[in-house]
Amino acid sequence: MEKIEHIGIAVKDLSHSSDLYKRLLGYESYKIEEVKSENVITEFFKIGESKIELLQASSGESAIASFIEKRGEGIHHIAFVVENIIEEMARLKAQGFQLLSDEPKKGADNKWVCFVHPKAAGGVLIELCQEVREETDEKLGY
Ligand code: ZN
Repeated sequence: MEKIEHIGIAVKDLSHSSDLYKRLLGYESYKIEEVKSENVITEFFKIGESKIELLQASSGESAIASFIEKRGEGIHHIAFVVENIIEEMARLKAQGFQLLSDEPKKGADNKWVCFVHPKAAGGVLIELCQEVREETDEKLGY
């Protein structure tokens, strides 16, 4: 793991929270992106080398919707940059961590992502992120 890529924050109303973070940080977000496979709309703010990712459910089936129902708005996950997501997934599996998918998925902001189950990680949902690169795309068969 190299550094914290972003902190994901579950929000009920993206435009409301976007405005809050704009006032908090003093500048605009740089991207809004819908991730259809995860039923979320995301909005990203840069903060130094890291980012804040606001996540709003785009349907009732979204994991964000059930998270907010159970725990309310707040920090949803911490994402780490990895150089090789396939290798990191194998390493974590060997360490006894439960992964939420067997293969990396295409996440927001041009990343391959995989989540680690919070039960195995002290109650914190962990996301692994690897920048999408063309050679990796071919290797992963997408
Ligand atoms: Zn994330």
